[in-house]
Amino acid sequence: MAKRTITPRSEDYSQWYVDVVLQAQMADYAPVKGCMVIRPNGYAIWEKMQAALDGMFKETGHQNAYFPLLIPESFLHKEAEHVEGFSPECAVVTHGGGKPLEEPLVIRPTSETIIWAMYKKWIDSHRDLPLLYNQWANVVRWEMRTRLFLRTTEFLWQEGHTAHATEEEAEEETLRMLGIYRKFAEEYMAMPVICGRKTEKEKFAGAVRTYCIEAMMQDGRALQVGTSHNLGQNFAKAFDVTFQDEQGQRQYVYATSWGASTRLIGGVIMTHSDDDGLVVPPRLAPLPVVIVPIWPKEELRPTVLEGIDKITRDWRDLKFHVDAREGYKPGFKYNEWEIRGVPIRVEVGPRDLEKEQVVFVRRDNGEKIFVPASEARAKIDEVLNAIQTNLFENARKRMEDRTVVIDNYEEMKRLNEENSGFFWAHWCGDRACENRLQEETKATIRCLPFDQRKEPGKCLLCGKPSSERVLMAKAY
Ligand SMILES: [Zn+2]
Repeated sequence: MAKRTITPRSEDYSQWYVDVVLQAQMADYAPVKGCMVIRPNGYAIWEKMQAALDGMFKETGHQNAYFPLLIPESFLHKEAEHVEGFSPECAVVTHGGGKPLEEPLVIRPTSETIIWAMYKKWIDSHRDLPLLYNQWANVVRWEMRTRLFLRTTEFLWQEGHTAHATEEEAEEETLRMLGIYRKFAEEYMAMPVICGRKTEKEKFAGAVRTYCIEAMMQDGRALQVGTSHNLGQNFAKAFDVTFQDEQGQRQYVYATSWGASTRLIGGVIMTHSDDDGLVVPPRLAPLPVVIVPIWPKEELRPTVLEGIDKITRDWRDLKFHVDAREGYKPGFKYNEWEIRGVPIRVEVGPRDLEKEQVVFVRRDNGEKIFVPASEARAKIDEVLNAIQTNLFENARKRMEDRTVVIDNYEEMKRLNEENSGFFWAHWCGDRACENRLQEETKATIRCLPFDQRKEPGKCLLCGKPSSERVLMAKAY
């Protein structure tokens, strides 16, 4: 068997993550610090994610459009909170065609400003609303500390930008899109999530309210997997976008924006993968099945390949690959496909052909399953579903095991230091306590969850009265 070069999780979780990304050939470091190259094995997962999300966006009435990469710097200054939040991480173009530009151009860190500048031209009457646009694009945010997929200077994402006549409609849209992210996380990424609202401190720069979904990684840390913002009339006011309502009055438009990025790929890796490499939920696996033929003697190779050909004749609706490479031992091939996270490996040798059977090996738990060749195709669907469910259940159980309800700050600090995880704790609502929590524990308030029972208690930090628990955790 080929030598394993992936650092075990128990030894160094961060290094393990980098090893998996690099050795599964999902991404590589780019010449510019903080940037990454997404290689075909990583990009294929992104394409699966895009297809699923794009389908759900379109089902809910959204259309794709594309806005430019370059934004006049003055646009960013039109919304006060927005510029404060994004200016420090903007890349700015000052020269073009060999000459200094009259006005510097910002490379989009997000597209609210340019989109609302255009919405001003397109929205005039209540009949023009709602406007439900999404764009698939790259954005640049000058990050100091980067990590492949999870935080990179340039990343790929989708950003939805919608315009509505009423506040209720905008709020409904914001929550609808959060619901789509939740469905995608649970059903495709096999990732249980907690939905809630961000605190004032953590909300999007320029939003009235930000909602998010938070997942737990294998090391107990939280990862924000998607956000949906109710922008109120902030951007409409900044860009003077009004419409004539049914009574003939001019009104400012209500806005939402929502996004999910290539960091989802990092989330999938950190949720499901193991010391042997990548584990991908079948619904996001670019290649769900690989067949490894086994020929103990070279002269048996044609017979085995012919046998496989016969078995797979009716597998046309399934994406699979036969690894018929010569000069590699089966063990080497197993190893390679394991690192890449293919959900089912099918082994077929001369003895299997005699018995008219094939052998399945599950990537998620290593289980071997002997299947009559004639039933193999149907069995594949069954096993892929079983893997998808098993991955979700494992993640759910992990989240349950590493979540504690806590009322004592010293105890929380101790647990958080030993072994991070999720904490349900009371918080008074004061920014000072929120800041102190972050300074002293590196944990943050991830969200004010939706499905929390109202329950009187005392703030974990200051002891003042609180009416509900919030979710605290260290996060990526
Ligand atoms: Zn407090």
